[in-house]
Amino acid sequence: EQLLAGCLIFFSACTNNEGMKSKEDQFVDELISKMTLEEKIGQMNQYTSHWEMTGPAPKNASSQKRLEEIKSGGVGSMLNVVGAKATYEAQKLAVENSRLGIPLIFAYDVIHGFKTMAPIPLAEACAWDPEISKLSSQLAAREASASGLHWTFAPMMDVGRDARWGRVMEGCGEDPYLASVLSVARVKGFQGDDLSQNYTMAACAKHFAAYAFVEAGREYNTVDIGTFTLHNIALPPFKAVADEGVSTFMNAFNIINGTPATASPYLQRDLLKGEWNFPGYVVSDWGSIEEIVTHGAAEDLKHAAELAVKAGSDMDMESSAYLPYLKELVEEGKVDEALIDDAARRILKIKYRLGLFEDPYRYSNEEREKEIVYSKESREQARKIARHSMVLLKNDDQLLPLSKNTKSIAVIGPLADDKNSPLGSWRAQAIKNSAVSLLEGIQKAVGSSTNIKYAKGCDLALGDRNFLDELVYAKADATEMAKAVAVAQKSDLVIMALGEDCFQSGEGRSQTDIRLKGVQMELYNKIRKLNKKIVVVLMNGRPVAIPEIAESADAILETWFAGTEAGNAIADVLFGDFNPSGKLTTSFPYATGQCPIYYNHMNTGRPTATGNVFWSHYTDAPNEALYPFGYGLSYTEFEYAKPSTDKEIYAMNESVKLRVKVKNTGKFTGEEVVQLYIQDPAATYARPVKELKAFQKISFKAGEEKEIEFSLNQSDLGYYSPEGKFLFEAGTYHLFVGTNSREVQKLSVKFND
Ligand code: BGC
Repeated sequence: EQLLAGCLIFFSACTNNEGMKSKEDQFVDELISKMTLEEKIGQMNQYTSHWEMTGPAPKNASSQKRLEEIKSGGVGSMLNVVGAKATYEAQKLAVENSRLGIPLIFAYDVIHGFKTMAPIPLAEACAWDPEISKLSSQLAAREASASGLHWTFAPMMDVGRDARWGRVMEGCGEDPYLASVLSVARVKGFQGDDLSQNYTMAACAKHFAAYAFVEAGREYNTVDIGTFTLHNIALPPFKAVADEGVSTFMNAFNIINGTPATASPYLQRDLLKGEWNFPGYVVSDWGSIEEIVTHGAAEDLKHAAELAVKAGSDMDMESSAYLPYLKELVEEGKVDEALIDDAARRILKIKYRLGLFEDPYRYSNEEREKEIVYSKESREQARKIARHSMVLLKNDDQLLPLSKNTKSIAVIGPLADDKNSPLGSWRAQAIKNSAVSLLEGIQKAVGSSTNIKYAKGCDLALGDRNFLDELVYAKADATEMAKAVAVAQKSDLVIMALGEDCFQSGEGRSQTDIRLKGVQMELYNKIRKLNKKIVVVLMNGRPVAIPEIAESADAILETWFAGTEAGNAIADVLFGDFNPSGKLTTSFPYATGQCPIYYNHMNTGRPTATGNVFWSHYTDAPNEALYPFGYGLSYTEFEYAKPSTDKEIYAMNESVKLRVKVKNTGKFTGEEVVQLYIQDPAATYARPVKELKAFQKISFKAGEEKEIEFSLNQSDLGYYSPEGKFLFEAGTYHLFVGTNSREVQKLSVKFND
């Protein structure tokens, strides 16, 4: 009956042509007018699943209470209920028992795949290709929505400059422009053109805001950045996806300049819902309303609920703050009921767009789930995305690509046959140990005449690791090391897989030292002494400090955590079936002490002193990155001609047209990411030494030359003042074109008032 009533409201709203209101507004307004205050507050409450493991009959009192709350309309959303069957059952509880039969919205962290894992987001960003980012989100959305899910807590668009922070793996790297372009593509991939298609899902821009600027890379803590950095670095990707129509935002755990982000009216009400006119809703991060109390900015949970709702946090994820206290706060006159109406309206609109009022069970179809999840097609796409994500860091004497008929190859290292780490952290429903290992990939790729010998050499981390377990790094085992040395000695070439365990990065996974852990360097040095050619295959979730390897290995391929098809995709690159085209989106330092390190820093006031000594320098490491932002090699080579602009002097409303010819001078077809940076050397507020403002990824046949054209207008060249006002100023602008942020050609133009 409830379902029927819900449908009737839906259809009557659809046919009612009252004024200029959209059908969606009519429907939601009519529904809101029928709802009690408690029911509206119920929509603002989100719980995690308590029966995921145990089946629909809850085992303890707290689960029983939650069950009753779902039935009485006290819950608007659930996270971590997964699967067509489980979501169907849970949906039934809400739809068939609550007075108005309002469906639940099911959320889950679908970060880089669902059951078929694509590479981690940091890796996928290295493709510098919006189509690849979109494809990855489409793949995730197709599988997750076939498993009954409506809403993903992705993409994360925190601009991460500090490799100690474990969550850099979830973002796009250190640049706000690249993060904007790729996050928009991710949102498009998740949401499609129409949320009501059953292969799309609502996306969530997180974490709002500045979460990646946590001090010393430790999260849940404090961020104290100036508003210039906030407006120019942290916020632009969020603004870009808000403009793109992302359905929801998630706020953040951190304090920012004294106020917990969850309690910040400036971020959520003034900026997001005010200036940016964002029509969707904001969900708190897990327990972040409660954390307003632990941060020391509220007296108790009730006070925290008051601050959060006033600040614009619409949905309470797992703080249990709204359900017990909001009604009281309204009745006491402390919270205006209009704020509750507004939050409920925003939430109901997204449910409407998902088509849940038409059919609350539309995503929960077990047959579709079986057909779509972990299909051959998904795996092919995951392999494609993985190949595009890899970055060739070194390739002396063109050692790579390898011949498939190499006589003997030693495959060595703790990650060489690891089927778990390539799945990365935030792995949704991936099956443990389900990735194709590097060893398996190589074995499949080579011809029958190649002799592959494997020896692990050492372990990396011990035990059956799970997310949030403390990691215990292995000690050297002389026998294992000796086996690896013997295997290497007998082979023509060594491929070594080194890096990080999958659970060294991710949430709550910060590090004080980003060198390779355990005894990996000991193993590497033993093998290196044999004077064999060494290809190092890196697997890791953050930049690692590897100056010795950079110096002495013959080739280095950064493969990150490449997902389910990791080994196959890496073999595709090693043996030349795919020419690598990825570029770093985050700087690789020589040493951890350089962190935070990023290319788009401000200038030093003292660039040089006497002789060759730089005033602003370390005494024990270079100032610069080992591998800079934008860096990555190909099996072929590209030559840049001298770039030119259409004019030297422009009026303020004109666009700069920049042209540059690029030629593939090598032997292979390959893709190059042509990068354009700017500098405003004298502005009202000091600006960075370089800022990426455009890029194009272009494919060239061997010998082919193309002319690339860029256009830059005031919105590309301008910036935000510390107050958040957009400025575009007259004067000189330097433009830098090149293959990475360091190797560029410079030219200058002028804008006259
Ligand atoms: C994370 C979020 C995530 C949420 C739900 C939190 O701990 O910070 O990014 O979406 O948990 O799992």
